[in-house]
Amino acid sequence: MMIHLKNLSKTYEGRSGTHDALRDVTLHIERGDVFGIIGQSGAGKSTLVRCINLLERPTSGSVVIDGVDVTVYEGKDLRVLRSKIGMIFQGFSLFQQRDVLGNVTFPLELRGVSKADARARARDLLSLVGLADKADFYPSQLSGGQQQRVAIARALANDPKILLCDEATSALDTLTTHAILGLLRDINEQLGVTVVVITHSLSVARQVCNKVAVVDRGRLAEAGFVEDVLAAP
Ligand code: ADP
Ligand code: ADP
Repeated sequence: MMIHLKNLSKTYEGRSGTHDALRDVTLHIERGDVFGIIGQSGAGKSTLVRCINLLERPTSGSVVIDGVDVTVYEGKDLRVLRSKIGMIFQGFSLFQQRDVLGNVTFPLELRGVSKADARARARDLLSLVGLADKADFYPSQLSGGQQQRVAIARALANDPKILLCDEATSALDTLTTHAILGLLRDINEQLGVTVVVITHSLSVARQVCNKVAVVDRGRLAEAGFVEDVLAAP
């Protein structure tokens, strides 16, 4: 899917005043990109990406997906949109009381898929992420990298066209990060999923992204092909 963020601004209202988290950001993410959003902590990366699935509503500007302005979507339209956009996080956010299979079947159950179909699909997804043998384990019994693989399988359950990754490898060591980035690339190439990666790590951006945007204090500082924006000094 093609994502067009048009003049996005986001102002948070706090008790001690307002904070402009995004200021007039315009960005195109093409179908098939692995697009990195880089910048320092507090720059607005997370806010920008959360506007794509409308976890945050922009204060002004619009979010256009495949030519359709979705900014004001509510109710059923919003649920359908979100089902096409998977998301993973730094802290994995798995359900601790459910086993691995139960975590991956969860979004399918929500959609009313039959138990047998949900389980079959979840097993396929677990094979895809290399965890076919861990279906009966609980999250606490898995390593960080394995937990992130479960989160990726769950995010793919509804066959999304976009996968948003919010500092998804920040809690992982270098080798595990490398493996997870490889998996994201496979998902991009084999399933044709557009991947958006938030990271504060230039090394992560260089490893996995074809394009990047640099966010600085809420503004888009630069955007383009990774080899141009992050050219070695
Ligand atoms: P206070 O009046 O107690 O200082 P604010 O709501 O103004 O509280 O927030 C203080 C700081 O924390 C601000 O910089 C604000 O942007 C940030 N902040 C508040 N809530 C959140 C949140 N949910 N996530 C991230 N940052 C937040
Ligand atoms: P990043 O992902 O680059 O670290 P964020 O998008 O999380 O940045 O935050 C951008 C700015 O907005 C920060 O100053 C943060 O404190 C503030 N902020 C984020 N969420 C909230 C919120 N819900 N309420 C108030 N301020 C927030």
